[in-house]
Amino acid sequence: MNADMELRITAVPLAWRAAGVLFVVIFAATLFGIYSRPVGFLASIWPANAIMLGLMLRNPAMAQVPGWLAGFAGFMVGDLLTGSGLEKALVLNLANIVSISTAYAILIRLPREICELRQPVSMLWILLAALGGGFASGLIGGLASPRYWGGDVLSGIVYWTAGEFVTFIAFLPVILSAPPLAEIRKYWYRLDLVNRSDLVPAMMVLLSFIASLLIGGPGAVAFPVLALLWCGLTWSVFATAVLTLVFGVMALGVIASGMVPHLHGVPDKAALSSFRLGASAIALVPITLAIVMHSRNELTDRLRYLASHDALTGATNRAAFHEQASKRLAAADRSTAMMMIDLDHFKSVNDTWGHAAGDEVLRETARRVVRMLRPGDLFARVGGEEFVVMINEVTLEQAQSVAQRLLTVISEQPVRVGNPPILIAVTTSIGLAVARPGSASSPDALMQQADHALYQAKHDGRNRVVTAGLNGK
Ligand code: GH3
Ligand code: MG
Ligand code: MG
Repeated sequence: MNADMELRITAVPLAWRAAGVLFVVIFAATLFGIYSRPVGFLASIWPANAIMLGLMLRNPAMAQVPGWLAGFAGFMVGDLLTGSGLEKALVLNLANIVSISTAYAILIRLPREICELRQPVSMLWILLAALGGGFASGLIGGLASPRYWGGDVLSGIVYWTAGEFVTFIAFLPVILSAPPLAEIRKYWYRLDLVNRSDLVPAMMVLLSFIASLLIGGPGAVAFPVLALLWCGLTWSVFATAVLTLVFGVMALGVIASGMVPHLHGVPDKAALSSFRLGASAIALVPITLAIVMHSRNELTDRLRYLASHDALTGATNRAAFHEQASKRLAAADRSTAMMMIDLDHFKSVNDTWGHAAGDEVLRETARRVVRMLRPGDLFARVGGEEFVVMINEVTLEQAQSVAQRLLTVISEQPVRVGNPPILIAVTTSIGLAVARPGSASSPDALMQQADHALYQAKHDGRNRVVTAGLNGK
């Protein structure tokens, strides 16, 4: 059996399993949509299309033929069980599938980052896909309108398109930005979705919502914008999307039920479409802001990392080490050990095997050191082939034994470089200096002592540890 066949054989059950999940989810979402019609068809919340689209975008195994069939079946079974006629159910659900597949065809072509809501333009693409999907299904719904619901074709198209558009905009961001299920199951206790100290924006949304209810009028839809912007600034994309959705559902529910003063009762179809479109336009803003904030924070983190780390080995660089070491030294209440590590005859590694091989030796050396250190220890690359390790809370004997082990891990195995691999033997010399607590040592002074000891180690024949201040050295 070749690899290709194997792949096909394992891929089929996966797609069918995914289709099974999709069937259950879409069936449940259909029932939810059907039973959430508190005031007739006007205020219906129909998340099923956005859920199917979102799941397919996130999970390619669902977006295969079995998945499409299962989704369609989920819609049909839901409709038929709740008393729809077969013909009407077929038309409605054909419209649903056309809507989903049109939006899917637009979004699946884009870079992953856009559908993961990690690019500032993400919401604009969602908007475009929602419009495309909405209009495609609007054509079907509009043409079917006179037969099933009365009314003319054109207003049917507009109403359907707006309805589809709005539910995509409301639900899709939540589904696309939700943390993966596995992550939620494993790390639910430290998912940093909402900054805990910052529940104020949620309260502001609630207060502005109450203000909308008390003051009323057509402008009331926009009252919570500032509070939602605040959320976008401080919360994760997912949390912002959820809050925006909750706000949208509450606002539309209230408007549709005629509770808002100065709106003269329950609005008609056209006015309701206008409110829904207005509410989704509002929703785009805080979510986009949250995405921009998030990508900006990611960028700053990356830049901060680059500014404080060495690009070749990933170790901390000299400047960052200096900063961290000063803090540690000032706070230490037991002895602190500083070890200067310098590879022996490294120039000849470069001369014999080339600079690229030398680089690989440096990377492997750093890996070996890091593997041996404990989480609190500091490690940095401070020169071409010079590293430094700082360890807090140790006795002189413990520090010497750590240095000796470092010497061993660096040199006991030759480094394998290239393909076919060559084996490069390396040894190192280590200078160790230990500062007592309260000895007012600066990192520079301690590093200088360790450097002297290192010089002595080189002088004594290399491949050894020398401790500063012992035996008169
Ligand atoms: P010893 O320390 O045992 O006295 O001998 P050495 O040959 O290691 O001495 P020295 O410190 O003078 O040489 C260091 C060499 O490290 C010189 C330079 O070619 C090499 N080197 C410095 N930075 C890099 C780097 O980033 N990559 C590679 N491949 N080599 C580097
Ligand atoms: Mg050297
Ligand atoms: Mg050197």
